[in-house]
Amino acid sequence: MQRWGKKFSASPHLDRPASPSCPDRELLALCRTSIMPNRRLLLVATVAIALTAGRRAIASTPVGLDMEGMDRSVRPGDDFYAFANGTWQRAATIPPDRAWTGAPITMQDRTAADIRSIIQNAASRPGSRMGDLYASYIDQSTITAHGLAKLRPWLNQVAAAADHSRLAAVMGRLAPYDVGGLFAIGIGEDDKAPGAMVVTIKQGGLVLPGRDLYLAGGGASVRLSAYRSYLERILTLSGVDTALDRADAIVAFETALAQVHRAPSDARNADASYNAYTVTDLEREARGFDWRSWLGAMKLDGRPRYIVAQPDALAGEAAVWARTPIRVLQDYLRVRVLTTYARYLPPAFADARFALFGTALAGTAEQPPRWRQGVSLVTNLLGDDVGRAYVAAHLTPEARGQAARLVKNIVAALDAKLAAAAWMTPTTRIRARAKLAQTRLKIGYPDRWPAGAQVPIARDDLIGNVARLNAARFADLVARLDRPIDRDAWVAPVTVPNAFASAGANEIILPAAILQPPLFDPKADAAVNYARIGATVAHELCHLFDDQGRKYDEHGALRDWWTQADVEAFQQRERALIAQASSYEPLKDVPVNGALTIGENIADLAGLEVAYAAFRNLPASARPMLDGMTADQRFFIAWAQAWRSAYREPFLRTLLQSDAHAPGRERALTVRNMDAWYAAFGSAAEGRLFLPEHERVRFW
Ligand SMILES: [Zn+2]
Repeated sequence: MQRWGKKFSASPHLDRPASPSCPDRELLALCRTSIMPNRRLLLVATVAIALTAGRRAIASTPVGLDMEGMDRSVRPGDDFYAFANGTWQRAATIPPDRAWTGAPITMQDRTAADIRSIIQNAASRPGSRMGDLYASYIDQSTITAHGLAKLRPWLNQVAAAADHSRLAAVMGRLAPYDVGGLFAIGIGEDDKAPGAMVVTIKQGGLVLPGRDLYLAGGGASVRLSAYRSYLERILTLSGVDTALDRADAIVAFETALAQVHRAPSDARNADASYNAYTVTDLEREARGFDWRSWLGAMKLDGRPRYIVAQPDALAGEAAVWARTPIRVLQDYLRVRVLTTYARYLPPAFADARFALFGTALAGTAEQPPRWRQGVSLVTNLLGDDVGRAYVAAHLTPEARGQAARLVKNIVAALDAKLAAAAWMTPTTRIRARAKLAQTRLKIGYPDRWPAGAQVPIARDDLIGNVARLNAARFADLVARLDRPIDRDAWVAPVTVPNAFASAGANEIILPAAILQPPLFDPKADAAVNYARIGATVAHELCHLFDDQGRKYDEHGALRDWWTQADVEAFQQRERALIAQASSYEPLKDVPVNGALTIGENIADLAGLEVAYAAFRNLPASARPMLDGMTADQRFFIAWAQAWRSAYREPFLRTLLQSDAHAPGRERALTVRNMDAWYAAFGSAAEGRLFLPEHERVRFW
């Protein structure tokens, strides 16, 4: 067993690591690996690693680790995150247009720059869809000249809807354009009837990310005031008088919705979220909302059944809607239209939106450069066009093949873990292994690219472009309701440097953009690669066996296939991990929400266990001592460096209240559950992070 102390002789270091990352969300750049909890192609109405095993000579310096970023004055066992990242952390600066920084941002930036040159190349050819859409976003003088004119027809429809039923219909007509309404809608495979498509209706209606921002006191009320100011500003800009009073009424309406919402930690329960309703059931159980008008306007009426995710919340929301004066509801929907499209309106609108979502909620001082916002828009709306070009330029078939071999090693390690899990009963174990054997592994890019919507794109009509592309996407989803399911289709864009899992589809997706350095680097030390892309792959696979994912069988059907004894053994581990996460306080008044983050925390810990096992399966020649460090030490340091991050305080606060992922530092610390980590660092690991063996959580 090696002691850490003597082996870290200073050595020059070159490489900059990164970590799992994920795309900017609609409103906030919250990020890191995420899960799609079921196979739904969620259409939520707006706001909403080594490979080189021994084949090549390994240099004496461990490529991929940032040795200079460590702080060796900290004992690993006291604060492993600071030990791995302390020097980096002290020097970290957050760019003025970012809410946080860390390895994922590095990856996002590189991907955005790559896509920028693809788009700019395309723009030089007349008639290029990517180029024309990008040009329409960059041309701010035309945007300013149009003012609100392009949205006027929608705003007029809202103003003309004189009663609740008519307004419900208008809300339905606007949903295909990505304008959020009272509820969120999903169209995807039926959790309990694989092969059939179904419409899911979820709680919704909140513009701020999550009910806690409306209900909690303290910092939340500051942010609610910022929201009120935003509403007043945006209403005034749109020509409304008495905007302040009207903003207050909208805040009161949304707060009433928040009061009937299920807590996000409850809302993720897969069993409780599956309730089959007919439209008559909806009318009876959630009175006060004109379901038929709303569904009919989206062409989603006449379906034999709908899956209602949170029945009590839907009933509560319908009642709030019914008792709210029509004028308030009209203002609310007007604001939803303006908020969705603010980025495509004259600068005053975009600035108001940024002041809320960028500054008040995330602490960011400056808007991202226009080109990056344009790249993000084109990537989002023309994902397949961009993706195809990106893959051609940035992912070779050889690299994809190499990634596939790594994935195979990870799958084999998880299978061995399942086979050996002593707490599982034999029948459940057999089914679990069968499930893993049938998991679809989507790596890099789809074998067949979809044709893509052929909608007209005009260089001088940004809002028209966005509206048409959104509508085409919605229409495509609606059409899928009556088509056989295409198992080869990808629900995640290949240009997102992130990874995904879907328990309902029993698949994982590793987009091309995550298969790049430093997450995946053929030249890097195997320890580094296994701790990064390896742990990422294993994280996603373990989502298929997390607190919700485990409920889906090998066909992706949501049904009870575990014995009671297995469930109890699993939940005992779950409870321990919830308590552990809840004990962390990233901000002194806001702890990690252990219940909300449990799925991610299981995937992190179980994934790291699996990646480590796969790493240990490599021949010893692939795991040499380098620069005085054992391979195991480098593995764990590489993991912790992947999670390095610095947050602006408002962003961290918002993240803690609404994101299913814990902050980077706390994610890195899950090493303290692993015997191998204690072994790697010897007595140096026996510090403040020390857990006696019986308190360490082990899944597989
Ligand atoms: Zn995850």
